[in-house]
Order: sequence, then C-alpha cells, then structure tokens
Amino acid sequence: MRKPLIVGNWKMYKTITEAVAYVDRIKAQLPPADQVEVELAVPTLFLQSLVERTRGTNLKIAAENCFYQDEGAFTGETSPVALRELGIKHVILGHSERRRLFYESDAVVNQKVHAALQAGICPLLCVDETMKRQVQGDRVQWVVSQVLTGLAGVTAAQLPRVTLAYEPSWAIGAGKAAATPSEANEGCYLIRQTLARLYGESAAARVRILYGGSVNQTNLPALLAQSDIDGVLIGRASLDPAVFLQMVAVAQ
Ligand code: PEP
Repeated sequence: MRKPLIVGNWKMYKTITEAVAYVDRIKAQLPPADQVEVELAVPTLFLQSLVERTRGTNLKIAAENCFYQDEGAFTGETSPVALRELGIKHVILGHSERRRLFYESDAVVNQKVHAALQAGICPLLCVDETMKRQVQGDRVQWVVSQVLTGLAGVTAAQLPRVTLAYEPSWAIGAGKAAATPSEANEGCYLIRQTLARLYGESAAARVRILYGGSVNQTNLPALLAQSDIDGVLIGRASLDPAVFLQMVAVAQ
C-alpha cells in the first residue's frame, strides 16, 4: 500500500552543466510513477532549470532545505513560498549535515516543517542517530524525541503529506558502512511506532519511511525487502546517473 520512493540527495555536488546533462540522460528512462516515485534533491541554484526540464516526467525535483519564514531579512536563506512558486513539491528538512554543521535544533526543524506545510510543500523529515547515542544506550529515546519534536503541532490531516527518513549519521558518507537491513528496519519501525503513538496505527501505516546511509546497488534489494522501509535516500550513489538508474530499477 506504500509506493516505493527513491530520493537522490546531491548535497553540494555538481555544476549546472553537469546537473542538466544528468537529468536529460535519465528523465525519459524512469519507470512509471505508479510503480516507483523518483526524486532528486538538488542545490537551490539548479531548481528552476531542472524543474522546467523534468516537467511531465517521473523525475521530481526536490529542495535540500528551506527557511522557516516566508520572507524577510534573512540573507542567504530560501523561502518555502518561493520554492512552491517554482513548482517544488518536496523539501528535505533536518538532514544530519544541517543539524551538525549548521546547528539546526529540533525546534528549528519543527518550524521549517510547519513553514513548508503552510507553503504547500511536503517535508521529508530526516531523523538522525549518532554513534555516541548508540554507545550511551539512549538511541531509542534520541530517535523518538526527534520525531516528537520535529512533528510537534503537525495535525493528523497534515501527516499524509509528510515523509520521514531514518538516517543514522554513523552510516552516512565516505568510509562508513550502511546499517544492516535489520538495523535499518528497526530504526524505521521505531519511527512508525512513534507515529502510531501520536496519530494512531492506521495513519502511521500509511506514512512512507525511508532509510538513508551508504545505500548502494549491492545493499539496496535487501533494504527494500524490509517490512518498514518504503524507499531510500541516496547520497553518493546518486551522483552517477547510470548507478542511480540501476537503483531505481531495483525498486520497480
Ligand atoms: C545522505 O546524505 O542522506 C546519505 C544517505 O548519504 P550517503 O548515501 O552518501 O551515505
């Protein structure tokens, strides 16, 4: 009942020339949207031109971040309302890199979730888990609290527009090993149980929850076979169009 969702996260990679070449190469080769949904989260600079190039295809362009105000004296920030006007329908919020490098707190992430929803954009809320928390033995509490705070004030009517991603930072980036399929599923299950506490079992059962952290062609099939993993958020392996296409084909 939950359609698979494959999201590439380009982070701060590629130039506009490379971005256009990549998108032109893959956009006509994707499976239909009723089988698998495909998104690329790209730097703000590329949004407008990639949205225009992908209109009418099964490749949706998403933003990697937005601010929690619609407008104002916020140098360098991106308005969710301006994103919506460009035709952007999804935005990643609370990525572990934003939390760690740009000091985004759970409260700020929550404000962004509300601003995005208000602007008509669907948030992809990332839930982090650090190795320190694992070692200290409070990872469950840590994951649960990010869901509770990140979604504070989000109504049951808004919930279907939210996607979550379990993204342990100990598994993200070069030199890291992915979570095992059962560890990844456990994280996604924990998020779903927290949603069930907040919104009830049947609402929670309809929300898509992704896993992210060193996903590649080899580990993808086992991850997608898990009961609570509805798709993946892919960093490095999404940078190569041929590899990304192959990964989308696995999810079909
Ligand atoms: C990410 O940054 O969301 C991510 C999952 O990165 P990677 O796949 O490179 O670990």
